[in-house]
Amino acid sequence: MKRETKLMHYGRPAHPGPANPPIVRASTILHDSVTSYRETKQRRETDDSVLSYGRRGTTTAHALSAAICDLEGADACFLFPTGVAAVAGAIAPFVAAGDHLLVVDTIFPATRSYCDTVLKRMGVTVDYFPWDTTDLSPYVRPETRAVIVELPASQTYEVMDLPALCHDAHSRDLIVIADNTYASSWLYQPLDLGCDVSVIAGTKYLGGHADVMMGAAAVRGPATAALRKHTHSTGQTLAPDEAYACLRGMRTLPLRLERHETNALALAKWFQTRDEVQTVLHPGLPGHPGAALWSRDASGCNGLLSVLFADGFDAEAFVDRLALFSIGSSWGGYESLAMPASPNSGRQFPNPAHDGQMTRFHAGLEHIDDLIADLAASFAAAT
Ligand SMILES: *Cc1c(COP(=O)(O)O)cnc(C)c1O
Repeated sequence: MKRETKLMHYGRPAHPGPANPPIVRASTILHDSVTSYRETKQRRETDDSVLSYGRRGTTTAHALSAAICDLEGADACFLFPTGVAAVAGAIAPFVAAGDHLLVVDTIFPATRSYCDTVLKRMGVTVDYFPWDTTDLSPYVRPETRAVIVELPASQTYEVMDLPALCHDAHSRDLIVIADNTYASSWLYQPLDLGCDVSVIAGTKYLGGHADVMMGAAAVRGPATAALRKHTHSTGQTLAPDEAYACLRGMRTLPLRLERHETNALALAKWFQTRDEVQTVLHPGLPGHPGAALWSRDASGCNGLLSVLFADGFDAEAFVDRLALFSIGSSWGGYESLAMPASPNSGRQFPNPAHDGQMTRFHAGLEHIDDLIADLAASFAAAT
């Protein structure tokens, strides 16, 4: 069955019944016999869909988790209250004091911050490597345990050769974790390409309406048991209302992504025609670093693009004048956004071509003609 069809049926309650899995709020789950209580506790250690206690999620969260698990092709999927909690929860099971973690330099800034503060304080050594690495030998040490990557790169969208990196990492017995938020479990399948864990900030396209915070870690193979144990030991879960809203948003994920992709690519090509613009960064533009790899391994792009404005052009005033693009961080909702970006800040391998006035845009679901008219009006007001 096609993914689009399955997406309409995840979590469907028995007939007669509602189309959506109901919001089930619970802490305690009640039993009529000690046997039932004992059996439930035993079954839940190997079956994540067993309703046993609110901290392990109720049926609402289980429906969402099963949906993401299936889309990612995972053996199990654990839910978290934010994307950052999922990133932290996906790394922590695989490193301990004295271990070494490798992180791609183009990672999401909050992930870098977790590695550089919390992990370092726990005694984990962290090193960064460039996005175009496929041979980890210059970076790996005897105590290296795991690698975390993200692609396309945060704010600059370079694309890694993930199958090649996973092949190299696995030959060294390293766990590979990929932040799959850009593709949001739909456009790209890190587990099929060799990763052990795929992390998604559902705050973005899964929820899709700028009103949900959540994260997920989908896992395949031998890493599953350690991730399950760590998630439960640290009390990570997702509240039923958030799980409901996220699964509701996901029903339209492919439709929304199609529109976001078309709009973003149209904006990217339009920005390229403007004298005020120096460079447009978008992984679907020919010549973008890794564009060929992305079209080899992924089925499309999302609504993000970054624009480096020409020296002397007042990019901040340009953004301030926009009416349809609000200024804000995050992305993945239906709305168009603009945000000042400085991708090189904090990076160990900065790209001098990215220095300057960069704005990260998120193309929302508005009509493309209106978005371009808004941008054109702001350019016109500058002269
Ligand atoms: C937004 C984002 C996160 C963090 O998600 P939150 O829900 O905001 O904590 C992690 N990784 C990437 C790539 C993101 O874009």
